[in-house]
Amino acid sequence: MNELELLQKADQLARAYTAEIENRAAFPSSQAIADLAKLDEPLMQNGLSAEETLDLMNSVAGNATVASNGPRYFGFVLGASLPVAAAADRLALAWDQCASSSDSAPGVHALEQQAAKWVLDVLSLPKESAVAFGTSATACGLSCIAAARAELLARQGWDFNNDGLAGAPDIRVIVSDVTHVTIRKALQILGFGWRNILKAKTDENGRILPEKLPELNDRTILILQAGEVNTGEFDPFDPLIQMARDAGAWVHVDGAFGLWARATEKLAHLTAGVAGADSWTTDGHKWLNTPYDSAMAICRNPQALARVMNSDAVYSSASADSQKNLTLEFSRKARGITIWAALRTLGRSGVAAMVEGHHAQAQHVADLLRQHGFVVLNRVVLNQVLVRGLDDEATESILTKAQSTGRVWFGGTVWQGRPAFRISLSSFRTQERHVQELVEILAGIGPRG
Ligand SMILES: *Cc1c(COP(=O)(O)O)cnc(C)c1O
Repeated sequence: MNELELLQKADQLARAYTAEIENRAAFPSSQAIADLAKLDEPLMQNGLSAEETLDLMNSVAGNATVASNGPRYFGFVLGASLPVAAAADRLALAWDQCASSSDSAPGVHALEQQAAKWVLDVLSLPKESAVAFGTSATACGLSCIAAARAELLARQGWDFNNDGLAGAPDIRVIVSDVTHVTIRKALQILGFGWRNILKAKTDENGRILPEKLPELNDRTILILQAGEVNTGEFDPFDPLIQMARDAGAWVHVDGAFGLWARATEKLAHLTAGVAGADSWTTDGHKWLNTPYDSAMAICRNPQALARVMNSDAVYSSASADSQKNLTLEFSRKARGITIWAALRTLGRSGVAAMVEGHHAQAQHVADLLRQHGFVVLNRVVLNQVLVRGLDDEATESILTKAQSTGRVWFGGTVWQGRPAFRISLSSFRTQERHVQELVEILAGIGPRG
């Protein structure tokens, strides 16, 4: 097969997969998973056929995919891929641009610049902010926290890039006691030491209690959440950010999915005050339904991010216009393209409708499950429904039984020390009939498991 025939074959396989996504098992069968052993081949001295390589990928790994791009997958907050975002990603793949800066790739640079403007617009964040298109909220969170530390140190007269940390003024970090595990990961990588991090007490909904917040000062990074992963709740930004501003602290907001509540007037009140923070992270690949890897680090002071991420050869001229000076990557794909395509196609009203729709679906699921005797643990302010059976054993059993149907998938979690399961509404493909099927399956199992 020549190059064009190979691409055509890949396109055909991709099209066939997408055409049947609605009917695929939400999670692969144990047979399909056992068959993955077929991939265990020795590396050949001489390469094998390209066509047969695609066939193997499709028949073995393709048979063991999780249908997170389908309508009946309710795990984590994975989201699906909007058609235009998936299509734009395919086209950009053919271009194979190295999107470091406008010099290396002017066309895709312009698309990312436009995407950045729209992101700030749709999320109502300060227009002067830099938007870095990174691989994940994890990587983007790490970038923002690194910028926060370097900036707070600079205000103390300390040159972090040149002098490092030895002997530097102490920078403290405060996180919510239900902060996301990837914030913990970022802080550990950056050398803060998890043991040294101050944990702010939260209420029964997972929101930081302002009156219990550890003391703030101008050497503190305060990390807040827009969308706690179990309850979907928001820290009370207004009082917390006011307190941080008064103290000269830096506020970073982890809004991997929850920041998108700002796209609709109906839910924006949940995020009141959040625009007063210094930096924010959010994902495209979750609630905006763009493909992986798609996330954003947003920093009110572009220079604070550009200084710490700077990879310009001439050190003093860190241009905050170049993505290589805002993200962890140097050679990189233009991850902002799928966001550009999604926002251009959905428009403001389309983003709002998607977010409101998932909120309404989540409330509907919660109401129906309560009617069937399940214990819904959260207020369902957003798109997450946190549920238990009548006791812990029942909860575990419900989860196993529901997953084993292959028709739906959602995951388990631990909330306030006890098992629970979490149903996330975040796929543009999920319609009322899929919600009904989910509820029917759960009702059939029952709250006693
Ligand atoms: C998913 C998630 C993250 C991490 O995002 P990735 O894109 O998976 O790295 C961080 N915070 C919250 C609240 C999340 O839900």
